[in-house]
Amino acid sequence: MDLLNTLVDKGLRRELPTREEALAVLETSDDELLDVVAAAGKVRRQWFGRRVKLNYLVNLKSGLCPEDCSYCSQRLGSDAGILKYTWLKKDEAVQAAEAGVQGGAKRVCLVASGRGPTDRDITRVSETISAIKEHSGDVEVCACLGLLSDGQAERLREAGADAYNHNLNTSEATYGDICTTHGYEDRVATVRQARGAGLSACSGLIAGMGESHKDLVDVAFALRELNPDSVPVNFLIPFEGTPLEKEWNLTQQHALRILAMVRFVCPDAEVRLAGGREVHLRSLQPLALHLANSIFLGDYLTSEGQAGKADLDMIADAGFEVEGTDTTTLPEHRVDELVSVRRRGAGTELPPNA
Ligand code: SF4
Repeated sequence: MDLLNTLVDKGLRRELPTREEALAVLETSDDELLDVVAAAGKVRRQWFGRRVKLNYLVNLKSGLCPEDCSYCSQRLGSDAGILKYTWLKKDEAVQAAEAGVQGGAKRVCLVASGRGPTDRDITRVSETISAIKEHSGDVEVCACLGLLSDGQAERLREAGADAYNHNLNTSEATYGDICTTHGYEDRVATVRQARGAGLSACSGLIAGMGESHKDLVDVAFALRELNPDSVPVNFLIPFEGTPLEKEWNLTQQHALRILAMVRFVCPDAEVRLAGGREVHLRSLQPLALHLANSIFLGDYLTSEGQAGKADLDMIADAGFEVEGTDTTTLPEHRVDELVSVRRRGAGTELPPNA
């Protein structure tokens, strides 16, 4: 197929496809699915080989959020039956992180519900980050605490955080449909702040919220412009008790097409298979490893993933290997970019990718 040859050539050169090409990937038929996976797999292998990075979530604070993100089981007034608790103690977080490291995780993601951290929260999380670094050595630490205020990204970086996650989730045009208590621009600003402070930016999307194919392409292109080093792709888990509880819009095949489209648009970024992979991809999960080079190990924030052992078996059975701490995840040019912003100091505006 000409389309796929073109996309592979562009992906190998880190060249942005056109919107029409990205859209065409989402509109391929199920008969073409294996060709699409094989093509995107070439791009994935060019930048990440057959390595799979494992990430582990540590939920520092759960539920009780004043925001109204409609996909989220932790939102204001949610009836979803999830655990609700305020900040995990430092030692508990260290223990949880170590459990992830023992399971093979290279990165721990410290996540807290809420609109964004107070300066006191940043102090608390900074102490936790330092303790995890001291205890678990080489593990990468990513913080995911919501919208950041001035100076907070710098403080996290000083405490030893390697990365910051804040997802765009959906296109600018549909953002107002899924959340009214903060805006798309707030999210973009936080990703920029994190990058400018020398944190490796992690920002992705949630598919299956009733968006169009065009919306998915729009959010993928917006992410490409922000240039995060990692791009988590979530598939909506429609939690009971949330406004999106009836949104079951994805087939396994379409979930794979979405991952392939993201790989073509962000060829050299760590594409991470995130929430909803088990329920939406089901027995096709191994095919997703040809597209994503990173997965979450075990449980997610408020839902249980498949056991870590099953993930490790799946990776080995599919002919991939778990990425060790002696390997750098990102391609060299991305590492150089991050090192250079860290050298230049906080507040540096990094060039966009496109
Ligand atoms: S701000 Fe975060 S925790 Fe709160 S409702 Fe939105 S996604 Fe959920």
